[in-house]
Amino acid sequence: MIEAPHLTFDPDAPGVSMGHLVVPGGTDCGELSLPAFSLNKGKGPRLLVTGGNHGNELEGPLVARRLIDWLPEAQTCGRVIIVPVLNPLAVEAWSRNTPLDGLNLNRVFPGRPDGSVTERIADAVSRVLLPMAETVFDLHSSPRWDFLPAATTHPMADPDLMARTVRMAEAFKLPLTLVWNYNDTAGMFDILAQNQGKVFVCAEFGGGTVNSDNLEIYEAGARNALIALGLIEGKAEYPTFLQQNSGQTLETQLSDELKSPAAGIFEPRCSLLDEVKQGDLLGILHPVDSLSAESVDIRALRRSHVIGIRSAAHVRVDEAVVIVARPFKQ
Ligand SMILES: [Zn+2]
Repeated sequence: MIEAPHLTFDPDAPGVSMGHLVVPGGTDCGELSLPAFSLNKGKGPRLLVTGGNHGNELEGPLVARRLIDWLPEAQTCGRVIIVPVLNPLAVEAWSRNTPLDGLNLNRVFPGRPDGSVTERIADAVSRVLLPMAETVFDLHSSPRWDFLPAATTHPMADPDLMARTVRMAEAFKLPLTLVWNYNDTAGMFDILAQNQGKVFVCAEFGGGTVNSDNLEIYEAGARNALIALGLIEGKAEYPTFLQQNSGQTLETQLSDELKSPAAGIFEPRCSLLDEVKQGDLLGILHPVDSLSAESVDIRALRRSHVIGIRSAAHVRVDEAVVIVARPFKQ
């Protein structure tokens, strides 16, 4: 018989509980115990906060730990469950995917109880944690990219859930609220939660190297969202980013990802928050395999806002190097 995933504590107990989310072992590895925190102050919103979904995104686990530090003093009602690291195997390896089975946790939801380790983690999250929350914040960041601090969601069929989700994302008061059109959404944690009618906001942030200023912005966004939910008291404020204290709600389509026309090194010629018009130079792609190969200009296709710039690593042909966005029309 396969052991069922479970929490080692009762999250309905009043006050702070700490323990683990137990993910049963399988043929590839033994049982995992993911540190988990719950603070139950009775009636009120039911929130789940997760980090470390992707192992090379370290801001989320750090901000989740900060919430655990100050929530006991600040939370006035409701219940918050926090699991800072969903995928410890990937975090230990600083890898997007789990090294053991090569799977991306954020593409295997709802998981399988008898699957490989990544699928078993997803199954535990889906069956144990998700039913305990009506709102979910999954804290990500974007290694290899300069990316505006953002609260993101995807388009969804239910207009009421969409509106509530965008409002929740805007409540982070980060520089960018983004409605992100992906073509690769099967198995994502947010799709599963949204299909169950839950408000799910995915926080994004440029990164790869953790720094204290960025962590402060990220934490301020999470605090703003907790204030909006009514879980804590306080005044929500836009954190300062690139000398600005403001936010905008934008959407990005697949065609807003500018792709590399050749393999090489990308040289940015634009900055985050730039508003560009058709024909503006966004960057130059420099092939490295031949000194006679021409560098290629990458130019804006339309009036748009720069929200993400590839800032590290050699790129292959047809990889995104700049992401732009346009005003969101609901
Ligand atoms: Zn991620």
